[in-house]
Amino acid sequence: MKKAKIRIYTDIVFDKGSVISLGEAQSHYLCNVMKVTKGDEVLCFNNRDGEFLCRIEKADKRHAELLLIQKTKAFVPSPDVWLMFAPLKKDQTDFVIQKATELGARRIMPVITQFCITDKVKKERFIAQAIEAAEQSRRVDIPEISEAVSLPKVLQNWDNERKLFFMDETGGGNEICEVFAADKGKKAAILVGPEGGFAPEELDLLRKMEAAKAVSLGPRILRAETAVAAALACWQAIAGDWSAK
Ligand code: SAH
Repeated sequence: MKKAKIRIYTDIVFDKGSVISLGEAQSHYLCNVMKVTKGDEVLCFNNRDGEFLCRIEKADKRHAELLLIQKTKAFVPSPDVWLMFAPLKKDQTDFVIQKATELGARRIMPVITQFCITDKVKKERFIAQAIEAAEQSRRVDIPEISEAVSLPKVLQNWDNERKLFFMDETGGGNEICEVFAADKGKKAAILVGPEGGFAPEELDLLRKMEAAKAVSLGPRILRAETAVAAALACWQAIAGDWSAK
């Protein structure tokens, strides 16, 4: 099997001809785990300048250095769709962060709802998961991970320019293709409820919002993490960057 080039994210700003000094954790990863040596090539991106081919100049286990050689990808941000989801158990939450990143969500926002199993959000863990998924999926940006916020609060401050598509498991939602196609080109957010579903008062609140639209994901009830992947995939195919304009 052909080995894919190692791809890493750094928050260091790239300047032409610059040398990137990596911190201890990444130096350890490259030198001890991935066993790179001086002269090897890796790809590097920084969430603002695109992706660059780099050569390892110094393979020091504590302090590796990369030399930028050539730009390999321009910086193109992911489409303007947010994923809002109610935190789940650890493995399912990890899945949500990984898949939302692979599926090109620009921002990921944990939203605390009445039937959420937890309101504890490990933001650092979310960021680490998102970076790993962005490296693997060849994104040139990293999704922004928001602080957890309660559903009423996020709705209170909602910007009506952004459509809020909430996945409604009660059967009252509109057909997904039609809804997404009707608002193609607009800023979007996809909201998925917790395993326990939305509370009736939450659905009332959502239904009253100008920017919100109830969406159906078909006749079967999906696990929340499946609903996240299904909704984002449909949005990317219909209104996002899976199709030419
Ligand atoms: N406990 C609920 C199911 C919740 S599923 C029940 O038994 O009815 C978790 C979340 O996934 C829901 O809140 C919804 O946002 C989404 N979801 C799952 N299946 C769906 C469907 N068929 N249509 C729309 N949304 C769905």
